[in-house]
Amino acid sequence: MFKNPTPRQIAIFISIIIALSINVLLMILKLMGILEISIEMGMLIALFSFIIAFFISNLLIKRFIYRRIKLIYKNIHRFKLSKKDKFTATDVTDTILDDVEKEVEEWVTGQEQEIQNLKSLEAYRRNFLGNISHELKTPIFSIQGYIHTLLDGGLHDDNINVNYLQRAAKNTERLQVIIEDLDAISKLESGELILEIQSFDIKQLVYDVFEELEMMAQEQQVHLQFKEGAERNFIVRADKEAIRQVLVNLISNSIKYGKKGGRTKISFYDMDTNILVEVADNGIGMPEEHLPHVFDRFYRVDKSRSRAQGGSGLGLSIVKHIIEAHQQTINVRSTPELGSTFGFTLAKG
Ligand code: ADP
Repeated sequence: MFKNPTPRQIAIFISIIIALSINVLLMILKLMGILEISIEMGMLIALFSFIIAFFISNLLIKRFIYRRIKLIYKNIHRFKLSKKDKFTATDVTDTILDDVEKEVEEWVTGQEQEIQNLKSLEAYRRNFLGNISHELKTPIFSIQGYIHTLLDGGLHDDNINVNYLQRAAKNTERLQVIIEDLDAISKLESGELILEIQSFDIKQLVYDVFEELEMMAQEQQVHLQFKEGAERNFIVRADKEAIRQVLVNLISNSIKYGKKGGRTKISFYDMDTNILVEVADNGIGMPEEHLPHVFDRFYRVDKSRSRAQGGSGLGLSIVKHIIEAHQQTINVRSTPELGSTFGFTLAKG
């Protein structure tokens, strides 16, 4: 009872002490012969003093608590209580302290959660910045190296001048890829990308991407084809341009990490409400332990091959973001030396 007393209980307690003190004082005065008072009169005075003391102390305690609670509320909410939320002294019910205690506990838990989120965001930001500068450093240093060599006389050396300029140009292209991918990922992560959903034939879109990547495939001697049974059209509902990006990233990866003379096969499976699209290559593949991480930003299994091919290390994380923005899923199966298969679903159109 005394562990968490209500304002009323405190007021009763104070009033009893006051009434008892007055009674004791009256008795002392009576004993000393200063005051002539009957027992009944003494009891009556004690009762009156108890009632008056109860009302006054109850009011004062409530006001005091109200002021303090208002302060706590202000601190919790970090803004003045709106007119609607403003509570008056009458709100100070017997359970108000319990309510405030509960709300403060909830607030503390909420704050702890928020601090935790901020900490992980900060760690992510630091990590992301570190990765970006690392990615940008390599091409920038290369460009600097080639330009300085040319300025230091290489410009007049016909054995290297054109070659070095071509290499510098290749590195600027790499910088462009990194910047474009960074731009895409920051748009996707900030939720800026608004999907423009439409119905279209995914098979036709794969044809278009095949055409776009034809040169690249020829250079690597990789054959792009549809799996047998993919003759008919497959209408899906999705953001066409975003899915084009997904296909470009997956198919160009299948070429980059493919084998000379190899092939990339695209297949479609009708799955009740969805269409499953699979991009399968018979390239270098990936060891099992890397598979849970390949969709992470800047994650590379084969670092030197990825950089040599001008990869930003962001391609698959862009793919995953786009598919998840469509509320669909993506998965990967892979065996070293045998090849990899990336599969994602899209809603049927
Ligand atoms: P990158 O720009 O390095 O290609 P991605 O995010 O597209 O970045 O891919 C991440 C890593 O996953 C690549 O560096 C590569 O090691 C591996 N990877 C992606 N696709 C394939 C594939 N089809 N076959 C083998 N490895 C792949």
